[in-house]
Amino acid sequence: MKSIFTLVLAIFIVSMTAQVGDMTTNLYDSYSKYKEPSLDNRRIKHEDIQPLILKLKSNPAYTVQKVGESIKGKDISLISIGTGDINVLLWSQMHGDEPTATQAIFDIFNFLNSNDFKAEKKELLSQLTLHFMPMLNPDGAELFTRRNALGIDINRDALMLQSPEGQVLKRIRDSLDADFGFNLHDQSTYYNAERTPKPATISYLAPAYNYEKDINDVRGNAMKVIVFMNSIIQKYAPGQVGRYNDDFEPRAFGDNIQKWGTSAILIESGGYKNDVEKQEIRKLNFVSILSACYTIANGNYKNISIDDYEKIPQNDRKLFDLKIERFTHNLLGKDYILDIGINHLEVQDKNYDTFYNVGSIVEKGDLSTFYGYETVDATGYRLIEGKVYPELIQTIKDLEAMDIYELLKSGYTYVRLAQFSPKDKDVSLPINILDKDQKIPGFYVNIGNNPNFVLQKDGQVDYAVVNGFLIDLKNQESNFKNAIFYGK
Ligand SMILES: [Zn+2]
Repeated sequence: MKSIFTLVLAIFIVSMTAQVGDMTTNLYDSYSKYKEPSLDNRRIKHEDIQPLILKLKSNPAYTVQKVGESIKGKDISLISIGTGDINVLLWSQMHGDEPTATQAIFDIFNFLNSNDFKAEKKELLSQLTLHFMPMLNPDGAELFTRRNALGIDINRDALMLQSPEGQVLKRIRDSLDADFGFNLHDQSTYYNAERTPKPATISYLAPAYNYEKDINDVRGNAMKVIVFMNSIIQKYAPGQVGRYNDDFEPRAFGDNIQKWGTSAILIESGGYKNDVEKQEIRKLNFVSILSACYTIANGNYKNISIDDYEKIPQNDRKLFDLKIERFTHNLLGKDYILDIGINHLEVQDKNYDTFYNVGSIVEKGDLSTFYGYETVDATGYRLIEGKVYPELIQTIKDLEAMDIYELLKSGYTYVRLAQFSPKDKDVSLPINILDKDQKIPGFYVNIGNNPNFVLQKDGQVDYAVVNGFLIDLKNQESNFKNAIFYGK
């Protein structure tokens, strides 16, 4: 195992692309050994990473420094390891609701602390000094929100530097005069690789440093490392890499860091089918970041052609969680053939620890240029809005005893409950529940509305959509998460 790694590093110079796979196969396949188990969902907080940072403090391989504080007084740490002349600065989660790379950073620490790949890590850390700033926006992370406590976007504060979080990033960048900077973010799960149904699971950008989008050595080196990372991620998520728009944003950190002379690399974690908590994407981050560090350490990226950067497909935003194609919709006695796109929005609990989904119709009409994580060809199907079951059901227990699928097949997507307690919300039945006196919410299959309907063909209902989740009634298959409770 270990010797393959060394061998690969040596052979890289001769034949880079042929051997890339071997190295990353080892990283990818052994990942589960390094995955930090305490960070297992997206709503991680400052208090979750502090014990892990404290542990690194007692490890002589690391230098751990408090370098700043968030507006609400949470420590921002710089964690450094290595003795090399090449300084690599990596910061994550400057947007509080973008935690995927923060998790990957702690996986990387576990990897570095393991007894595996010893010779290879020795080489890596003799060439590089790695400096990590995980969770740059802990106040935002606390509320799982993009902005900091001042309500501003830190990534538009590189010039004004009003946020202490932005100030510390600038100060550390300047003091290290880092050779490479990794700006680690999450992007919308609705991005796709241009003109394909594949999600942009990972997107890269070597930000421009001027409006002309010139390419100097600093930006060129970032592009080369990106080409290298792309070639690796293609192996595990084929076609699922996008290139982020490189329009110059004078206020953004990536663009300015490029301008200040650090080769800036943006990594955006997007979406991956059936990976709501982005744990597969986290693994791809781990592989991508470590691979990049290795190519920077051995210098092989220098042989890569910048032209290949432009060949990475651009990001587009053409994905829905659910797309229903070519259903028949009747309005005022006339039939129309339509598509709709539905997304599952997240509504957080009051502690920002968990969430439930609210489905929303986000587009309607000819959506032939769009794609879905799930797609239904509803040709020949009639869309019929969901009805309220006419009988009053006493308790949630009574409802549980009923055949919900039969209700859906009869076109009912709501039931009315006589005795309703907040605890009942924990019961996840695929039907919406109305409190006794609650009116049915205004429903029409239109943008902004909550989608609840059935698809009927030849008098038979084959599909139900409840709170935007598709339920295939023929085989009772579904990725259903939750319905909606209308009541106190
Ligand atoms: Zn971001």
